[in-house]
Amino acid sequence: RDRLGVIPAGERPPLTVLAGPTAVGKGTVAAYIRDHYPEVRLSVSATTRPPRPGEVEGQHYFFVDDEGFDRMLAADELLEWATVHNKYRYGTPRGPVLAAGEANELMLLEIDLQGARQVRASMPEARLVFLAPPSWDELVDRLVGRGTEDEEERTRRLETAKVELASAEEFDEIIVNDEVPRAALRLVELMRG
Ligand code: 5GP
Repeated sequence: RDRLGVIPAGERPPLTVLAGPTAVGKGTVAAYIRDHYPEVRLSVSATTRPPRPGEVEGQHYFFVDDEGFDRMLAADELLEWATVHNKYRYGTPRGPVLAAGEANELMLLEIDLQGARQVRASMPEARLVFLAPPSWDELVDRLVGRGTEDEEERTRRLETAKVELASAEEFDEIIVNDEVPRAALRLVELMRG
C-alpha cells in the first residue's frame, strides 16, 4: 500500500477482518457471505463456548474445552484470541489464514474488536472493516429485539457498544449494515479489489 493508501494492482491484502459493535449483525453478514459467495473463505475460530443448536463442529467453530484452548495457545497456533463479553475465549487458527494467503484466496475473519487490534499489530497489511449500525437507535432496537440478553446484560453491552463505536476510526473501511445482502455485497466487492 502506498502513501495514499492505494493497493497496487495484483496485490491484495492477505485477509480482511470484519469487526464492529455488539448486535450490529457481523455474524449475519458473515453467514450470508458463507451461503452466497463461495469464493470467500471464512476463518473458523476455536472457542470454549458450548455449541448452540444447529452449530456444526468445524463449520461454525472448533469447539474446545479450556485445556484444549490452553494447548492451542501454548503451541502458538492462534493468530489472535480474546475473551469476549467476559465469558468464553475465542481465537483464530493461524494455519488456514497463512494457507489462504499463499494460495491468494480471499479470507474473511469475523472477530471482535480486541482481536481486530491484534491482527492490526501482527499483520499490518490486513484490511480492517468496521460494520456500523445505521443509527444508535437501530442498534438498541436490534439488541432488545433479539431478546437473548437480560436487562442487566443489555445495559452492559450497550455501554461497551458506545466505546466500540468510537473505535471506527481505527479501521480502513466502514460499511453500514442497513440491509444484510447489500452490506455483504459491499464487503465482497472490497475484498475482490
Ligand atoms: P458468538 O458466541 O455469538 O458466536 O460470538 C461472540 C463474539 O465472538 C462475536 O462478537 C464474534 O465476533 C467474536 N468472535 C468469534 N470468533 C472470534 C475469534 O476467533 N476471535 C475473536 N477475537 N473474536 C471472535
